[in-house]
Amino acid sequence: MKYSSTRGKAEICDSAQAIIRGLAADGGLFVPEAFPQVSLQEIEALVPLSYEERAVRVLSLFLTDYSTEELEGCVSRAYGAGKFDAEKRAPVRSMGDLHVLELWHGPTSAFKDMALQLLPRLLSTALPKCGVKDQVLILVATSGDTGKAALEGFADAPQTKIMVFYPQDGVSRIQQLQMLTQQGGNVRVMAVKGNFDDAQSGVKAIFGDKDFAEELAGEGVRLSSANSINWGRLVPQIVYYFSAYADLLAEGTIKAGEEIDFTVPTGNFGDILAAYYAKRMGLPVHKLVCASNANNVLTEFLRTGVYDRKRDFFKTITPSMDILISSNLERLLYHVTESDEKVAGWMKELWEHGRYEVDKETLNTIQQLFWADWASDTETKAEIDKVYRQHNYVMDTHTAVAAKVAGKYGEAHPEDKCPMVVVSTASPYKFNGSVLEALGTETEGLDEFQLLDKLHEMSGQDIPQGLAKLRRAEVLHKGACEAGEMKDTVLEFASSK
Ligand SMILES: *Cc1c(COP(=O)(O)O)cnc(C)c1O
Repeated sequence: MKYSSTRGKAEICDSAQAIIRGLAADGGLFVPEAFPQVSLQEIEALVPLSYEERAVRVLSLFLTDYSTEELEGCVSRAYGAGKFDAEKRAPVRSMGDLHVLELWHGPTSAFKDMALQLLPRLLSTALPKCGVKDQVLILVATSGDTGKAALEGFADAPQTKIMVFYPQDGVSRIQQLQMLTQQGGNVRVMAVKGNFDDAQSGVKAIFGDKDFAEELAGEGVRLSSANSINWGRLVPQIVYYFSAYADLLAEGTIKAGEEIDFTVPTGNFGDILAAYYAKRMGLPVHKLVCASNANNVLTEFLRTGVYDRKRDFFKTITPSMDILISSNLERLLYHVTESDEKVAGWMKELWEHGRYEVDKETLNTIQQLFWADWASDTETKAEIDKVYRQHNYVMDTHTAVAAKVAGKYGEAHPEDKCPMVVVSTASPYKFNGSVLEALGTETEGLDEFQLLDKLHEMSGQDIPQGLAKLRRAEVLHKGACEAGEMKDTVLEFASSK
């Protein structure tokens, strides 16, 4: 399988190269040249397999330049012994008509682990394969969960360094503590005075700066990305859509070939895009419902074809979805139009004017599969409370956005009888303040750790290890910078020992 850029056909490469580079030289994203097809028999054959075995089957279709042994090694180090607190890694929890795909059983209690446990292994396997001797410096802009998951995945990974930028007031206290206490000889964490888009734009500008790249090359360092634009981030996410389907088959909710719907709480459009890939590969998916919060730029786009980032930015109780530029949408546009020229044009308009509009045909094609809506903070909290009362199950805020929007979809489309899977992206413990408030619990005066205990009392679910141990962990990273200073901090870290 070969990969090319969404913005031009000049660079064709293998997956190992695409993973090392992160972003194509023309600023585009790497995309596979085709969608490998998976038959119904092959999907049914996943049923008796472990998550790791399912992962190797799906990954090997895209990562054809990796040997099976290499993939097995990467996968077992990523998802194997002791890292995940669920036997099935990504279990589907069925409660009547409600099917929840839980993607937060990894070390940082959020779905980013599904990809970020695997990406560093794919990368460190790729480096010697491609004869790269340089050190790879991973730059990450995070709205919260990516940062910690990337740090956890890359800490002490050979031949790599990782630097994470997060918006100073844009992440929860628990998320901040998770990052600031990160150990490892090759890690740095930096607060940016601004919002997530400032941090992300800063990182993108650094990636696009050729002079800076040369300066770093002089230090024997090259940049790469662990953001969801890296192909090595996206491809692991395709696995759990197949895995969920296999689990629904196993529990008898569906018969082989029956279509299902997914509702995905969406920010950067990576998670839901992976579902699109699964569909294109032959997974029986009927609708993909894109759930947003008040930063509903995607709702508008999927309804009207207008992508307009020039709008107010809201801080919500779902900070991992507080995003106005959904980078991975570019890949969808490429696959739908099969035109790097069109995509390059729209991305240029977005960069220059903050807005673009796709043609009718493109919009129609997208709308055949996608549906979109959003939920306000008030609706989200009400949903958490409702689900708790109905099923004695506590959802995190992001998951509740999806559950609420799944409900809106059901009301708008009563004729659609497909089972709906709500994708659950974080443990409720990661956003315990908002969750407890939603459940009507008094939280005034309680610190983060008392909140964990309180939620434990109510839900009866174990407190994830990674969060429990933050009580005693030492803060190791204290740096903060202006958005304009990001480049200097990168250079300083790159040249440090
Ligand atoms: C990252 C994240 C999302 C959004 O996923 P995208 O792939 O960026 O669309 C949703 N929920 C949580 C908890 C996340 O961490």
